[in-house]
Amino acid sequence: MSTPLTPGAAKKSLGQHFLFDPALLKRVANAGGDVKGKTVVEVGPGPGGLTRALLDSGVGRLIAIELDDRFAEGLALWPEARSGQMHVHHGDARRVNIAELVKAVGGELPAMIVANLPYNVGTPLLVEWLKTADWRSTMVLMFQKEVALRICAAPDDEHYGRLAVLAQAASRPRIAMIIPPGAFRPPPKVDSAVVVLDPLPPGEGYDDLNALEAVTAAAFGQRRKMLRAALKSLDGAVDALAVAEIDPTRRAETLTQAEFRKLATAWRNR
Ligand code: SAM
Repeated sequence: MSTPLTPGAAKKSLGQHFLFDPALLKRVANAGGDVKGKTVVEVGPGPGGLTRALLDSGVGRLIAIELDDRFAEGLALWPEARSGQMHVHHGDARRVNIAELVKAVGGELPAMIVANLPYNVGTPLLVEWLKTADWRSTMVLMFQKEVALRICAAPDDEHYGRLAVLAQAASRPRIAMIIPPGAFRPPPKVDSAVVVLDPLPPGEGYDDLNALEAVTAAAFGQRRKMLRAALKSLDGAVDALAVAEIDPTRRAETLTQAEFRKLATAWRNR
């Protein structure tokens, strides 16, 4: 059913590393909980291994967004595309208003996102999705293991940084499984990991991810420096430290999620 593909046909520029093992793909498809009857957005379906696993797991509506002509055209021929259970959008996921697309094709919001993301666009897409919380529910996303560790890291961990603070301000992330290079065709150079990001319960999230992004970018931009030096690159941020009652001699990697939120609020309200 899926488009036949030889490893040589993968395009490096589009971050193409494909999974074909049905048992593994079934586990990935359901890593964020039962998908039966749900609207799911899949970014980068490629030859359709994960797409097939999602359809076979009983998704209600599948919206697949693929940039590569070969795959978009191939998927559009699947019976599920003809019946309307799957909608294939041929385009760049970075340029699509996914909430509008889901509504336009009759899907339900909030939608789940399940994706084996291309490495080069995975992080910017995640940050954008974290900032727009109203249209999406649980996200099941595959990244390089290193990126997955950065998303889930706690203070004082070497991987703790901007991505951990942003991800944990909008979701509860966890690593569901590690996948070695040999599972992919062609194999990437490093391990991959599936991260499940559940939305935080109402009232527990932070409402201004743009402010949080600005202060974390400055604070971790020079992570070995004390905050009073690192934050000089962001207008008003050193003064915000005092308002937030944070010791200016501390380093960014020691600040808790709550302290970063306080700092972001103080900076925003300056
Ligand atoms: N889901 C498939 C799998 O697990 O075997 C393919 C995963 S492969 C790592 C990433 C896929 O994303 C490729 O099919 C690639 O063409 C597609 N892609 C890359 N950049 C994209 C973009 N900006 N928008 C949509 N799809 C993109």
